[in-house]
Amino acid sequence: MSMTIKLGSVLSNGTGGEGAVYEILGRPDLVYKRYKQFKLTPTLESKLVYMMTVPPKTIMGECISWPTLLVKNTSGKLDGFVMPRLKFNIKLNDVYENKRYSYDSLVIVAGNLCTLVHQLHKNSIIIGDFNHGNVGVYEINSIVSMMDCDSFHLDGGQYPCCVCMDGYVAPELLKHLKKVNTARYDTAPPPTFTQQTDLFSLATHIFRLLMKGVSPYNGINTAVRVSSDVVSAGNEPIEKGMYVFRQGLTPAHPACPPKHILTDELINLFEQAFLFGEQSYRPGALVWHKALLNYQSSLTTCSRNQIHKYYSKLSCCPWCEAEQRESTFNNTRSAKNLPHYKVKRK
Ligand SMILES: [Zn+2]
Repeated sequence: MSMTIKLGSVLSNGTGGEGAVYEILGRPDLVYKRYKQFKLTPTLESKLVYMMTVPPKTIMGECISWPTLLVKNTSGKLDGFVMPRLKFNIKLNDVYENKRYSYDSLVIVAGNLCTLVHQLHKNSIIIGDFNHGNVGVYEINSIVSMMDCDSFHLDGGQYPCCVCMDGYVAPELLKHLKKVNTARYDTAPPPTFTQQTDLFSLATHIFRLLMKGVSPYNGINTAVRVSSDVVSAGNEPIEKGMYVFRQGLTPAHPACPPKHILTDELINLFEQAFLFGEQSYRPGALVWHKALLNYQSSLTTCSRNQIHKYYSKLSCCPWCEAEQRESTFNNTRSAKNLPHYKVKRK
């Protein structure tokens, strides 16, 4: 199929290590990804050809950057591909702690992310490197979209995902790599990325959305009593199982509220995902979606701040308390003077 495409300017945030993403003149619905030639390995090329043969069946077209047309340059070599232009104005990591976002919108973003993951898994697509920079959010309606689909883990690993951002790698995968003595995801023997490892990353995103951006593995030993406002965590705490609400641990981040601000249903799902997920199965995207809908319908609005919404069974607003703890911490840089959470279940 031949088509003449006239490229416009590079999108803002459209440059990366692999190449650049351009506007296509006259086609506001599409964009073009042009690779740096040295990045176009035979493996990547055959992956793109494979992707063209298996477009996802369900109505995800506008939500994922799946290639719709491969384009060759004048010397007949692959140059890049055309894909839908995703509708987003903010990336997920900027949503986690965004003070403009009302809490119920964060719950909706989490739910929409579940829907997208469910559809991908239904199409036998494994995301692999499911990190916060690959997910876009459109602020107006909280719709989420997924970019960098050419890094997905496809056809059962025949076309593997080669990287994964620290902090989103499932513990069983970290241990597997250690066991087979490699740091490379693409050449490690299977199993590497699976639906279960995606569900680990999904649970991490949901936790961060619901708990003030805090990483679920930001736990420290209760006896240590040293808080830190560093919210992101690398792979080491995941491998060591430092789930913030594990018995004997407490969140290092001063603004992370206690777990009982969530419904029991959500508390149980997080425990399944972060405490027992390695041994059994983690909650699927639809199970999360249902629990998030239940949570959303139980939220009430704070009398002091409209964007604070909280579980109606709580005695007071946990977000007012979190802000108070955070500002005390920022002023004193000490965990000793932090006011205690008074929020309880009614
Ligand atoms: Zn409040």
